[in-house]
Formats: sequence, C-alpha cells, structure tokens
Amino acid sequence: MVPRPAQYLLRFDDLCPTVSRAGWERFLPLIEQFGIRPIVAIVPDNQDADLERAAPDPEFWSRMRALEAAGATIALHGYQHLCQSSGRSLVPLHRRTEFAGVDAATQAEWIGAGLLILRKHGLNPRLWVAPRHGFDRNTLRALRGEGIRVLSDGFARVPFTRGGLTWIPQQLWAPVEKSQGLWTICIHTNSARALLVDQMEAFLRLHAAAFTSVDRVLADLKPGPLNLGEWIYETIATWRVKASRSRKRIRRRVRD
Ligand SMILES: [Zn+2]
Repeated sequence: MVPRPAQYLLRFDDLCPTVSRAGWERFLPLIEQFGIRPIVAIVPDNQDADLERAAPDPEFWSRMRALEAAGATIALHGYQHLCQSSGRSLVPLHRRTEFAGVDAATQAEWIGAGLLILRKHGLNPRLWVAPRHGFDRNTLRALRGEGIRVLSDGFARVPFTRGGLTWIPQQLWAPVEKSQGLWTICIHTNSARALLVDQMEAFLRLHAAAFTSVDRVLADLKPGPLNLGEWIYETIATWRVKASRSRKRIRRRVRD
C-alpha cells in the first residue's frame, strides 16, 4: 500500500571520525529541533581520502551513541568506502563501487568486520547503506548471514521485500513535496551547500510531522513483495534517475 499523505525519512551519509564537523553541525540542530529520527550511515574503517575532511574527532563515537540513544537508526555504510570494483549492482547507478562484483567470501568478511567495529563502539547497526548504491546478490547473502535484514536504497515509492531483505527506498537528495509514498532524502553533510540547509529547514517547518523512522516504517507499512504496478513504477523511476545522471555527466564533460 502506498502511504498517503506522503511520509519522509532523512538519511545522513559518510559519517566517520574525519567527517567535517562544521558540515555535520549545520544539520544537527534540525534533527534536535524537529525531533527527527534519521538514518545515520557510518563508514566503519574509512580509507577514502575524500572523506578525510578534518582531524579524527575523539568524541565521534560517543556522539554517534548519543544520536542512536535519541532515536537515530545506525546503518553500516560499506567497509572502507574504497570504490575499486566494477561489478554490476542491483541498483546500477555507478561504474565503480566498493562491493558489487567483489567475491562472496571477501564481501562477507568486510561486512562482518564492519559490523564488529560499529558494535565495539557500542552501536547497534540495523541496516545497510551501500557506498555508491553498489551491492549484488552476494552482498545480500552476507547481510542475511549477519542478521541484517533491512537496507536503504532503490527507487520504489513503498518499502518492500526482495532477496530476503526489506528495502526502504532512497530517492531524493533534497526535499521535494510529494502527495503519496515513502521518500528518503539523503544528505552528504561534507559537501552539502548552504542552500540545502535552508531548504531542509523550510521543509521541516512545514512537514516535520510527516517524518517517520525506520522502526515505524517496518511496523506501520508492513513491507511485502512489490506488486506489478509498483514494480513497473520502480523500473521506470530507476531508468529516469539513470538517464538524468548520464545527462548531467555529459553536460559536465561538454563544459570541461
Ligand atoms: Zn558514501
């Protein structure tokens, strides 16, 4: 069933001890002021130089524990965030990703090691957020093996089950008013422009009550397999996102 009126989830990506504090702290007051229960996607062992935006924050892990205690849902965001594999993903938006195409044993090892790191820091990771949308059947198998049954990705407008996991779709990178469906807005705090902070605040002023949490999505929307109509919607939506991304890529190439 497509929820009506629309519901929203907020997701923050690329959290790790070297996250830009200034970038992150622009959004933190919004979470607190509007009582949002976001998805916080943490890289357990970041080795990606692009995510080294500040000296490692010794308080990072306690800050994440406090967020979880306040209602955030912790997600495992890959392992080291190094995107060197060129396998085909189940959500095929990028040519190179960390997980898609990597052999099953290595993926299982990375996922096990990543979960262990988060748990050692006192966190309770409950879902999977793939770097660059890159994951395949072997990723799903490894996640099931570790008891992770939920992921955040894909372009349907309802949560659904596939490959033994519940998929909570993630379709937006800025707030957009919708009449129906469940919409996850993904924010990269390291690189978000000031305009996005203002847009998010204005949107929350109007729609804070329509923001939900992972727990409520799972309990209230009772995800099952997609029906044919929603499957067609998802297929077309995925194709549109891919097409819009290639148009942007081509425009950038022409400009450069
Ligand atoms: Zn990422």
